Amino acid sequence: MIRYINVKSKKRIELIDVTDLVQKEISESGIKNGICYLYVPHTTAAITINEGADPSVQRDILHTLSKLIPKDVGYAHMEGNSDAHIKSSVIGISGFVFIEEGKLVLGTWQSIYFCEFDGPRHRRLALKMIET
Ligand code: ZN
Repeated sequence: MIRYINVKSKKRIELIDVTDLVQKEISESGIKNGICYLYVPHTTAAITINEGADPSVQRDILHTLSKLIPKDVGYAHMEGNSDAHIKSSVIGISGFVFIEEGKLVLGTWQSIYFCEFDGPRHRRLALKMIET
């Protein structure tokens, strides 16, 4: 069974911490040990696991991505959001986390971030948990 987390972004580009929401889905699933796959069913969003303690890291990630992949540099795509498509491909739309004793296994400083690159929008994060 696929579970979905609804994510509502508020800015064009932002990282949204979904760690607690993913943990809630794992707790509700009743799975104690296994793997939780994370999948973003969008073409202008992504998923990453990175520093959760210092918010300036999120700013630096977004700032650097925007420098590397500018919004307007004569892209062919008529919708005008090619930068968002490219950022999505660079960061990636899938990931996974281990589940141990019903809890996400993350490093001390790690959080799970839904990456919005063309918001604000209503988004979904798909989860598939496998018991092992
Ligand atoms: Zn587009």
